[in-house]
Amino acid sequence: CGIVGYIGQNDTKEVLLNGLEKLEYRGYDSAGIAMLNNEGVHVTKVKGRIAVLRDRVEPSIHATMGIGHTRWATHGVPSEENAHPHQSASGRFTLVHNGVIENYHDIKKDHLQSTNFVSETDTEVIVQLIEKLHDEYQDTKESFRQALKLLKGSYAIGLIDHEDQDTLYVAKNKSPLLVGIGEGFNLVASDAMATLKETDQYVEIHDQEIVLVQRDSVEIQTLDGEVITREAYTAQLDV
Ligand code: GLU
Repeated sequence: CGIVGYIGQNDTKEVLLNGLEKLEYRGYDSAGIAMLNNEGVHVTKVKGRIAVLRDRVEPSIHATMGIGHTRWATHGVPSEENAHPHQSASGRFTLVHNGVIENYHDIKKDHLQSTNFVSETDTEVIVQLIEKLHDEYQDTKESFRQALKLLKGSYAIGLIDHEDQDTLYVAKNKSPLLVGIGEGFNLVASDAMATLKETDQYVEIHDQEIVLVQRDSVEIQTLDGEVITREAYTAQLDV
């Protein structure tokens, strides 16, 4: 399983699809991508190989930000419905997740009694919870942070807010995730190998950190909002 995300000047399709192909070795049963542009969010997901996803993605869509996912099903059978990205009820938030949310039942019971779920995954509670908290906080970063504080388990998360074409929201706990630094673009990936073609400069993300990834900046914060400064390193291709 794996995650890739991109925000920059160029079309994101190839970066996402090439990245997911490079992550195939990690094992997966389904895959999907979401891309955001002025027309809104475009989600494509399939059960099966990245080649099938590539065939299914509409070539005419042009978008400069997006997220992609290969899924290793833990909660819910491998299917198109359970494949990521998952969306919140209103469609405002779109999310990919690697890992396992151990307390997803409790979160449903305590916070999402009236939400209609469309998948069987533990992941969908994250995106529905963010939307629910957004009603209260009216701020995406704050809602994301508060949602993460309620989660128990492992995650690497990429989140898109349809009303913000300038930020990719990212977080990590016990699942791998790196931020790649480019010129005029930045990206995220489970493994630098996925995106070495784009950049060899990477920043480590530690557990329980949030990252706000924009075209020309990357800001790492703890769940309590403390800003972290961390240098990039040069990734070497292992052969
Ligand atoms: N637990 C999530 C699911 O079953 C994510 C699995 C993964 O890491 O790919 O959908």
